Amino acid sequence: MSEVASRLGRLGMAFSEEQQFVAKAARDFAYGNLRPGARERDRTGKFPLEAISELGRMGLLAMKVKGEDGGAETDNVGYVLAMESIAEVCASTAVILASSNLAAKILSDHGSPAQREKWLRPYAQGTLGPASFALSEPGCGSDAAALTTSARLDGNEWVLNGEKMWITSGAHAGMHIVFARSDGPGPEGISAFIVPGGTRGLGIGKEEDKMGQRASGTVGLSFDECRVPADHLIGKRAGGYAIALSALGPGRIGIAGLSIGIAESALAAGTSYAKERRAFGSALADFQNTQFVLADSRTELDAAWLLMLRAARLLDEKDKAASETSMAKLFATEACGRIVDRMVQIHGGYGYSREFDVERNYRDARVTRIYEGTNEIQRIVIARNLLRESS
Ligand SMILES: Cc1cc2nc3c(=O)[nH]c(=O)nc-3n(C[C@H](O)[C@H](O)[C@H](O)COP(=O)(O)OP(=O)(O)OC[C@H]3O[C@@H](n4cnc5c(N)ncnc54)[C@H](O)[C@@H]3O)c2cc1C
Repeated sequence: MSEVASRLGRLGMAFSEEQQFVAKAARDFAYGNLRPGARERDRTGKFPLEAISELGRMGLLAMKVKGEDGGAETDNVGYVLAMESIAEVCASTAVILASSNLAAKILSDHGSPAQREKWLRPYAQGTLGPASFALSEPGCGSDAAALTTSARLDGNEWVLNGEKMWITSGAHAGMHIVFARSDGPGPEGISAFIVPGGTRGLGIGKEEDKMGQRASGTVGLSFDECRVPADHLIGKRAGGYAIALSALGPGRIGIAGLSIGIAESALAAGTSYAKERRAFGSALADFQNTQFVLADSRTELDAAWLLMLRAARLLDEKDKAASETSMAKLFATEACGRIVDRMVQIHGGYGYSREFDVERNYRDARVTRIYEGTNEIQRIVIARNLLRESS
């Protein structure tokens, strides 16, 4: 039995051959190609462009895109298994995959046949590099409907002006999916556009010097009379906010997978350190305190897996799974935060050193509770649905 099959077997569920195949391909790539440079990338913040290009050629930047558009047509379960595998080794690469797949899913679901042919197909075949999802701005993140980047129609061109912030892969993306205000205030005034990388008037801001996930290329984007052809509008005019939400909901399970990957990595390191390290004549693993910490962590991590797989399966059955995707993201990211903290503690002083990967896991974990909808926003979604269902 392969390592992937035995790990998945522990969850007591059946996985298709395709799902196991994508998990194994991602895992082999992560351990073979990403692991050697992961610590160095964290130190330098260097974007893993070569690895991302290779992942693009493997179809991992467009996993959920239909085969007819050149995509891998991976289901949601396969997607989260791949995210988990990559994040175990390099959370920066995993979040680049998450935002690229988010952008690709938007074009796949809402792009016209001509847009899918011109942009999605080459992208899915790995020739455009990563893609960015550009929604957040300096003045608004959670309240995305307040965005102020503007889009005006001038003849047969859209002209964009404004600023985006925190855009993953922003400096390296071959295409950006940009949300801008075309039609007045509120969520009903927002449209979505394809902005090719390198378009005149598109500026790339400074790279954020971040606490964790340091190699994910997070930058600001500026639009100064940035013109794109009228047919770069995605879906209906003023339908952009609904498009963003339709992608962000299902995208949350990817962040659950990413968090589970980080936590799996930390738990494996903590477990083996506890067996090796001795204090007061015993291995740390002999202390009941250590055992309880490991037991709590394994239990929470398995619960996170099960919530994530439930949400992924519901999505695969065409259920919107709005609460379930939020619960998966909320629980997995918070469990991950608790687990990385405990594993740093098991490592004692060494856990505070950059020589040990748990220190990176600890920093990489923190942002998962912030991006793709903060955990407060997830709680709002869950409560809203709960209250609606019970009325
Ligand atoms: C590393 C990184 C990568 C990112 N990548 C991208 C990307 O690729 N594309 C993109 O568009 N964005 C990206 N983001 C932005 C991210 O999605 C936002 O940071 C996030 O949505 C939160 O928005 P904010 O930072 O403006 O915080 P705010 O919205 O200002 O929130 C601040 C705090 O207030 C809380 N809060 C806000 N509203 C409420 C409410 N109604 N009830 C209760 N609490 C509330 C929040 O939960 C949070 O704790 C990224 C961010 C980071 C840090």
